[in-house]
Amino acid sequence: MHVSDLPVPAAVREHYRASGIEELYPPQAAAVDAGITEGENVVAAIPTASGKTLIAELAMLTADGPALYAVPLRALAREKYESFAELPGVSVGISTGDFDSPDEELGEEDVVVATAEKVDSAIRNGASWVEDLACVVVDEVHLLGRERRGPTLEVTLATLQRRAPGVQIVALSATVDNPEDVASWLDAELVESTWRPVSLRTGVYDGDDVTFDDGSTLGVDVRDVGPDEERDTEATASLVEGAIDSGGQCLAFVRSRREAESLAARLAEAELAPDAAAAGDLAEEIRGVDGTATGRRLAAAVESGVGFHHAGLVDEHRALVESAFRDRELGVICATPTLAAGVNVPARRVVVRDLERYTGEEMSKLPVLEVHQMCGRAGRPHLDPYGEAVLVGDERTAEDLWDRYVDAGPEAVESQLAAREALRTHVLSVVASGFADSTAGVLDLLDATFFAPQSPDVDLSGLLATVAGELAEMELLDVDGDAGGAASADAERGRGDGPDPRATASRALAATDLGETVSRQYVRPETGARLIEGVRTIESMADADVTALTALGVVCATPDMRGTYLGNRERADVYRYASRHAAEFTTAPEEAEDFEAWLCAVKLARLVFEWSEGASIEALVDRYRVGPGDVESHVERVVWLLGAGDALAGTLGADVDVFDRVRRRLADSVEDAPGDEIGRQPR
Ligand code: ADP
Repeated sequence: MHVSDLPVPAAVREHYRASGIEELYPPQAAAVDAGITEGENVVAAIPTASGKTLIAELAMLTADGPALYAVPLRALAREKYESFAELPGVSVGISTGDFDSPDEELGEEDVVVATAEKVDSAIRNGASWVEDLACVVVDEVHLLGRERRGPTLEVTLATLQRRAPGVQIVALSATVDNPEDVASWLDAELVESTWRPVSLRTGVYDGDDVTFDDGSTLGVDVRDVGPDEERDTEATASLVEGAIDSGGQCLAFVRSRREAESLAARLAEAELAPDAAAAGDLAEEIRGVDGTATGRRLAAAVESGVGFHHAGLVDEHRALVESAFRDRELGVICATPTLAAGVNVPARRVVVRDLERYTGEEMSKLPVLEVHQMCGRAGRPHLDPYGEAVLVGDERTAEDLWDRYVDAGPEAVESQLAAREALRTHVLSVVASGFADSTAGVLDLLDATFFAPQSPDVDLSGLLATVAGELAEMELLDVDGDAGGAASADAERGRGDGPDPRATASRALAATDLGETVSRQYVRPETGARLIEGVRTIESMADADVTALTALGVVCATPDMRGTYLGNRERADVYRYASRHAAEFTTAPEEAEDFEAWLCAVKLARLVFEWSEGASIEALVDRYRVGPGDVESHVERVVWLLGAGDALAGTLGADVDVFDRVRRRLADSVEDAPGDEIGRQPR
């Protein structure tokens, strides 16, 4: 099918032609055949670089009203926003900011790009633009299988379909084992394809050479190494250098931040910079962002044409590395797997050195889907004759790698909504935002989620009774007008001698004022409960003891605050600090349910406190052994949670203003910090 046959405005067709798009790629043509331009729901499960953006645009441009494009990450929202903004005659808005505002002005735009979390929070805050949507595109819908993001995505989609009846849903997915399940849930046509614009061969290095799935082999020169464990690094170095020598670029994936940096340092020993002058300018720019040791290491590596990329980097460094790689100023990026799920950075060769990762308890093998996404980054359309992905093994592991990642398909997408924590959040939000006012109403909505068809045997009403009881105990939900937890009592009796909750009739549900605030502030119920407890304790404390550290201690101990870890030597130091400031904290060590978590919360509170007192990111990075990007994201989350704490203090009618004071102070420091863009939405 030719671009001139598309039912989009002539200026858009011209725009496509000018960007080199004449004939539709086969999966794109299949999407048109499936009715994408006629309002049909479509699930497209197709590989990276097979042209999903155009599929989305065709749906959004032919829809009979405004469209929403939902992405999982903020960095992706920015990338898509910029790409849609190039479409002639189309107005585009972006929404990734505050969680507690409905962003009504977005109703004016033809296309709104937003993170899925932001869409969820806009719905909770009663955004009316949501009701006018004619088309919703969900990017990376396979994330339905993720523990945190998945439940939000499925409940958001189920609610959107109710809020905007008849809305066209287009879901874009990586290739997964069960795309038909996703399609059937969304009542959508399935477009499934393994077609790629650039052919991809995948191979395994066995300690000797690489064997590819097309039968070809590649010799790998590995310089003599002493200990065994470095052989994979040397093989990786050789593969990277080979790709660059033949005019390509390379992505090398490793398991951790530290490994990414040390591989980069190793690779920088060879001069890989395709353009030394550009690399010098880039290094200068990187040094200009901040003076941290991480920034200096990055700048030094970049001078040799080597970048690294991981979550410990500040956003600006990450963006610089990505764009320099796209502009071919860098020969290689050493990255943790998060890069594969993020923005568009294709390379001729992808080398996956580490196929296991430490999960906090043990080393575990990477999921097939994740490895395929990394491999899928190989081969840049119009630039590379082919793409190549190499998994680095040795004589012992090569066969297993082949069986697991080359021969076998990816995993199925499975709903994670049954997790109690996720259910609590979403049950509260559907009741608080007025979607349901009874257990029957909630069940009705849950029936429209991905979870329901996937798990027909699960007793949803029993689960709901338990969860409603837990929310009632947290003072967030009234069950049958009884905030004392009638449902939880029933649930506890469920398997005993009392009435079976599954058999009991529908019960009325209503969010309490506190529950409404928790839902609007977009914090988890457990976080809400902890903040409420914190507010009450602060009310009872002597004024002199209530300091910035008090409020920071409360928010840093909530489950919405992402954890940090403690080094052995740090533990004693943090404990001493906590003891010195014991009167200011709302929880004493002996009251903590989990001592280690308590220490981590104290560490975070101290870190953010020192930042607010003017400590530089460099000093904090050094003192607390975190990445500069961690400081940025910790502060961001704390600002958001302090806002929630203040809102809950308001709902409680408590005379507690410390959350607001500290939040303002942090927000001012954020504004003063050059180069930092810290909004209220956590990443
Ligand atoms: P993905 O499926 O990974 O989202 P994109 O939509 O970003 O892939 O497309 C990858 C690249 O292919 C883009 O540079 C895009 O301009 C180009 N492209 C998409 N469709 C076509 C086409 N029909 N003909 C030529 N190039 C195309």
